[in-house]
Amino acid sequence: MTREIDVVVVGAGQAGLSAAYHLRRTGFEPGRDFVVLDHAPGPGGAWQFRWPSLTYGKVHGMHSLPGMELTRADPGRPSSEVIAAYFDAYERAFALDVVRPVDVLAVREGERGRLRVETSAGVWSARALINATGTWDRPFVPRVAGQETFRGRQLHTVGYRGPEDFAGLRAVVVGGGASGTQHLLELAPYAAATAWVTRRPPVFREGPFDAEAGRAAVALVEERVRQGLAPRSVVSVTGLPLNDAIREGLRSGVLDRLPMFDRMTPEGVEWADGRSFAAEVVLWATGFRASVGHLAPLRLREPGGGIRLVGTRAAADPRVQLVGYGPSASTVGANRAGRAAVREVRRLLEGGSGLSGAAAA
Ligand SMILES: Cc1cc2nc3c(=O)[nH]c(=O)nc-3n(C[C@H](O)[C@H](O)[C@H](O)COP(=O)(O)OP(=O)(O)OC[C@H]3O[C@@H](n4cnc5c(N)ncnc54)[C@H](O)[C@@H]3O)c2cc1C
Repeated sequence: MTREIDVVVVGAGQAGLSAAYHLRRTGFEPGRDFVVLDHAPGPGGAWQFRWPSLTYGKVHGMHSLPGMELTRADPGRPSSEVIAAYFDAYERAFALDVVRPVDVLAVREGERGRLRVETSAGVWSARALINATGTWDRPFVPRVAGQETFRGRQLHTVGYRGPEDFAGLRAVVVGGGASGTQHLLELAPYAAATAWVTRRPPVFREGPFDAEAGRAAVALVEERVRQGLAPRSVVSVTGLPLNDAIREGLRSGVLDRLPMFDRMTPEGVEWADGRSFAAEVVLWATGFRASVGHLAPLRLREPGGGIRLVGTRAAADPRVQLVGYGPSASTVGANRAGRAAVREVRRLLEGGSGLSGAAAA
């Protein structure tokens, strides 16, 4: 059975919920006019999977969703619990009726200029799609010579559960972003020895990260997306905030950075100049890619590897909005993108014939 609906929102993280809120506010009814599908077991978007030691007090700045502040959150409580509870309350307050767990498997050209959304719970036929699937489901690990020969454990940030797992071990942490430094500072007191490895020398940022610095960082990512290049994370262009914990890590030597190693061996990692570090565990804090594999049948990708956007709209298909992608992959960006995407969807649906025209083009 195929269900017909105006708008399918894929993903109920910050970006998808923001879009759902704005759809509701402008008169779209959940269930009748739009549906939000999410394949996670509960509310919270990717936050529900973040490691328990990432307490709410340690996150960089969570912007509330539109229309309902996140107040009185206990900074000592895991952010996975705080955000999941907040999103749950939010979904109920605005009766967003998120349907879960539903895995969106493929979105392809449908009949009469509509999009065919194939899922684990059947098919929806939609006039527009707001994609808000984030990056958590696509952890990225670079390929390194000899990787498969390493006898120790390798894990990515997605599999990190806390520093206790590293007790007494020699550990390599790869990655110069916020996750890499947070992991390292946390696990160093437990591990027998640590090495921090990053591809590029880390850039530390003095002073507050104000609105102007934020805008400049977003503009950099935006420019890449406009050119159809694969987006970089917003965090990757903001630099690492030089807070007390980082200062202490630099002072103690935990954050003495080494360049990327050239190969892995059964016993550890090696550099071409003959240096080596024996290790029992390698933690890849090497980031994520956009989870957009289900959009592949629409052929939105440019030769540069990214999906070119005009605002939030896919340049190659005006029926598709991407929110939480590239420049809007932060909580504040996701909020704004949700509103912008709904404005675009309304314009498209009110334009009527624009739909089939676009599909035919
Ligand atoms: C470790 C870490 C810490 C961060 N800290 C901050 C911070 O402090 N401040 C900040 O602003 N940003 C932070 N970010 C960036 C953060 O990811 C974004 O701010 C924001 O939470 C992302 O929201 P989203 O809605 O785009 O994605 P997500 O929260 O990832 O939501 C995507 C949703 O889509 C669903 N989904 C994915 N694919 C499918 C599919 N095929 N079918 C159905 N459902 C699907 C998922 O289940 C998920 O619920 C952090 C990121 C990481 C990795």
